[in-house]
Amino acid sequence: MRYFNSSLEQKSGKNWRENSTILSTRFGKFRSIFIRSHRNSKQCLVLTRLSRGRWSKAPIIRIHSSCLFGESLHSTMCDCRQQLDHALQMIGREHGCLIYEFQEGRGVGLERKITAMEAERIHKISTGKAFERLGFKPDLRNYAVAIEAMKRLGVPKTIRIITNNRQKLNALTAAGYKIVERIEPTLTLTLEAARFVRATQAELGQIPYQKIRISKPRRDA
Ligand SMILES: [Zn+2]
Repeated sequence: MRYFNSSLEQKSGKNWRENSTILSTRFGKFRSIFIRSHRNSKQCLVLTRLSRGRWSKAPIIRIHSSCLFGESLHSTMCDCRQQLDHALQMIGREHGCLIYEFQEGRGVGLERKITAMEAERIHKISTGKAFERLGFKPDLRNYAVAIEAMKRLGVPKTIRIITNNRQKLNALTAAGYKIVERIEPTLTLTLEAARFVRATQAELGQIPYQKIRISKPRRDA
């Protein structure tokens, strides 16, 4: 595979530009490829770990939408960081790729997400209801750029996937991917995050997690 042999790559074509390097993490080394579309300015970051430079038979795929608060600022209000860590751990061990999409706040952006969070807090309503109140659909994310990236990188058509999101499953199936296994993490969440996850799953019609452990609250929380 052209990407995984050299330590520095930049590729550009009519519609795409790609830059890649090796990223060492506590879950192993990943070839990290930033892909930007010239057509619609869409972009994503793909972290790949392959088996001897090639895709394994049914690689593990995670399409992950960004969450600054959860992933970088250690918010205890959602499950995003645990999802990300779990995916990197699994892919680091068993090969596949994580496609990181810059779709903060279900696609509305960080600024509007903060407005929605404040509406949730003040009115004690769910994220979906807060979005509705602000005039947004409950979920604006789409997975077209992730699927384009998978095609460009030659991801095999038979995959395993980490998700409980039916929209992702449907988008991948419609794009011709055969999903042979759906993987989900066992999450250990605060009560607040567990409530958020359950409300999100109900509102967006997602597949409920088999198991959520509740962590003890911190004294300073
Ligand atoms: Zn989050």
